Amino acid sequence: MQSFHEWYNQHKNNCTCGREHEPLPTEVFEIGSGILEKLPPFLNKKQLSRPHVVYDKHTKKAAGEAVETLLDKAGINYTVSLVPENEQEDVLADEHAIMHVLVEAPAEADCMIAVGAGTLHDITRFASYKMGIPFLSVPTAPSVDGFNSKGAPIVMNKVKKTYQTQAPIGLFAEIDILVEAPQAMVAAGFADMLGKYTSLADWKFSRLTADEPFCDASYHMTKEALENCVNHAEKIAVRDAAGMEYLIAALIQSGMAMSLFGHSHPASAAEHHLSHFWEMKFLKEDRKQLLHGEKVGAACGIIAEHYHNNKQWIIDNSPAKEQNSVADILEEIPSGEEVRRILKLVGGKTTAEELGIAQSWVEEGLQEAHHIRDRHTMLRLLNEQKRASNT
Ligand SMILES: [Zn+2]
Repeated sequence: MQSFHEWYNQHKNNCTCGREHEPLPTEVFEIGSGILEKLPPFLNKKQLSRPHVVYDKHTKKAAGEAVETLLDKAGINYTVSLVPENEQEDVLADEHAIMHVLVEAPAEADCMIAVGAGTLHDITRFASYKMGIPFLSVPTAPSVDGFNSKGAPIVMNKVKKTYQTQAPIGLFAEIDILVEAPQAMVAAGFADMLGKYTSLADWKFSRLTADEPFCDASYHMTKEALENCVNHAEKIAVRDAAGMEYLIAALIQSGMAMSLFGHSHPASAAEHHLSHFWEMKFLKEDRKQLLHGEKVGAACGIIAEHYHNNKQWIIDNSPAKEQNSVADILEEIPSGEEVRRILKLVGGKTTAEELGIAQSWVEEGLQEAHHIRDRHTMLRLLNEQKRASNT
């Protein structure tokens, strides 16, 4: 198999967008069975001798203890933070969790190791960035595409904002750990990938109709990752070693596409905005959080349906010279029903109702979610122009 670096460089070199693309910030991607053992030698090679390991009570058991054993064996002097849960038994990437890690990390720590899924990565990414030290990634579940991106969505005063911080210098995806990940987290990772059906469509739309920055290489990288995932849905559903390799590779590829572009455009549009809208509602009501990917998957089905239901209106209200291209973009989006069918293949929840999200929040979200980000999605067009023409 082509290495991630070769794949990245091939796309980067074929890119015609004209933007300046950085070299890949992550130096090594290790995926496989038994690869965790490569972590201490990598630290030695980078002359990092005081790692601060960050996990929660679940990921401590899943992989944290194994990391500690390996560091012990290698004679590396490390410290740890066990990030506590809040009253809803959630670990959030919020001001409390970040302070917890910053208070516990010794001043002489020269790197951090994130052991966990998306949230633990965001906490570690942000805290290590603020300390001016690098971090390494040890994913415990293939549940999001953000492991190797720079964006850290942080909750402060119950409001979520994404900061551009840093990508890990090394990523160690131990397949023996990933095959033990809970089924819901695997389904969530798969669903986060499916969300690219609508995010890619919205990105092309915003480029055509609002001249938003675009990168063809980053677009194709994300599309390839999405196809790799959907084509191997049955294997991913079984959660065996091969399936988990396909899924984590696709999630890493999506993260790489964001790295190449420098922003989340390829991987996140109206479906993520709807998901964030619900998340804010949950935060304000102190409700136990849902998995990121679960919300994105359900939102993708809803957005796909919404776009298809308003297809002609979207085309008619796009600039005249772009109407044919907009029709093509809409044609490429699968129906809501098809999105839900694919989600089901991996055993994911497919509707807002199944997730316990009220219909009123679905409707309110469809009206309001475009305010979450300043992007010219089709949802924004529908809401702003439809509203303007109704007044
Ligand atoms: Zn996502």
